[in-house]
Amino acid sequence: MSDADAALHEALDTVVRRNPGQALFRQAVHEVLESLAPVVKQHPEYVEGGILKRIIEPERVVSFRVPWVDDNGVIQVQRGCRVQFSSDLGPYKGGLRFHKSVDEDTLKFLGFEQIFKNALTGLGLGGGKGGSDFDPHGKSDGEVMRFCQSFMAELAHHIGQDLDVPAGDIGVGGREIGYLYGQYRKITGRNEAGVITGKGVGYGGSWARTEATGYGLVYFVREMLQDTKYSLEGARVVVSGSGNVALYAAKKASQLGATVVACSDSQGYVLDEDGLDLDLLSEIKDVRRERLSAYAEERGNCTYFHGKNVWEVDCDIALPCATQNELDGDDARRLADNGCRLIAEGANMPCTEEAVEVIHERGILFGPAKAANAGGVATSGLEMRQNAGRLQWDFERVDSELDRIMTNIHATAAATADEYGVPGDLAAGANIAAFRRVADAMLAQGVI
Ligand code: NDP
Repeated sequence: MSDADAALHEALDTVVRRNPGQALFRQAVHEVLESLAPVVKQHPEYVEGGILKRIIEPERVVSFRVPWVDDNGVIQVQRGCRVQFSSDLGPYKGGLRFHKSVDEDTLKFLGFEQIFKNALTGLGLGGGKGGSDFDPHGKSDGEVMRFCQSFMAELAHHIGQDLDVPAGDIGVGGREIGYLYGQYRKITGRNEAGVITGKGVGYGGSWARTEATGYGLVYFVREMLQDTKYSLEGARVVVSGSGNVALYAAKKASQLGATVVACSDSQGYVLDEDGLDLDLLSEIKDVRRERLSAYAEERGNCTYFHGKNVWEVDCDIALPCATQNELDGDDARRLADNGCRLIAEGANMPCTEEAVEVIHERGILFGPAKAANAGGVATSGLEMRQNAGRLQWDFERVDSELDRIMTNIHATAAATADEYGVPGDLAAGANIAAFRRVADAMLAQGVI
């Protein structure tokens, strides 16, 4: 075994030994390390500089109690956590997730992925992630506000515009960001707009941040299709989820001529052969905060499949935009059998390792999350820039910057895959390009 292979094995063994029971984190690390052999072989300085040993250990994990009072006057206690994974390229940057499944494993996997995603944007952003096992479903606005205030009462001690800049993720949208930012201002007494991104445009937010992850995903898909005989025009598209990423991916795909026929939530999926009415979907999910089943009831002439799997719907393009490991090997086989040509990840790590193998075996084009969904954090980076300059760009400017960044990420991943002998493998190309940027910064800054 070469020194490079031995170092990669040792790093993965360390992750397994040091993080018992953390299967998601192990999966995320394995996916990256697996693709790094060619680069580590060419650059022994990465092994000598201890890069692999260092990059798998978060710089800091802060875990804290979040007590809050529900509408019945009962005290509830949640657990909050912030994983500050890497600050080699800039302040820690990554979203907050509020979902009942959140634990340290989830946040470490997301924080690790975030290091590489942020590196790909070309902006100066480190990697982090945070959240809580709080479940916003069915909670009143007052309950959500009290929870957010309690969460921020602790988190405020660990973040700052030059230190750590959170944003949204599952269960954290514009409403939650508003409450979190308000509490941060109250605690610190400062107007430090760059401390959090995803703010409303009326109080320091950026135009197009809400749309950015979904729009960026579809810009990336457009680039993937460029030298093929396929196009978004006339394509039949299925998205999973019906949250922020799914909704705006569906909107941009349909603006570019695709028909988006299905989307889902955690209870089932809706199939609308005429193409989803995205204004109605937005009204039901974003404004009224109702379940997806309400869409089918109001829209009529479409079908809601309770408890069913959205990947049984045939399509040309599949965009998993819900959550991790939501598309497994059997789903990938079924999609391939039904003629799917392209799968691009809007969610973080939505395809299982087996699914990715099947996707490659069956010759389906694959857009990996770190590259394909980087538009959200890239636009958060643009929001931070606007905050630092105390200015606000218009929608068109931010959207065109987003498009430029996504086009560039695609080109970088493709060129790096060619350079390291894995042509067409955008996942390996993205991992290697991102790793090189972070590793070079780590070498330059010494053992810290
Ligand atoms: P939202 O909370 O807005 O929406 C999440 C959607 O996914 C909902 O429709 C939800 O359904 C569904 N979902 C969540 N958990 C599950 C589950 N276990 N099984 C099935 N469906 C589920 O989140 P976002 O759209 O912001 O995030 C979606 C994904 O995109 C996540 O992986 C996130 O990390 C990733 N991402 C988000 C970015 C952003 O800017 N927001 C940036 C980059 C990546 P239900 O309501 O029934 O729970």
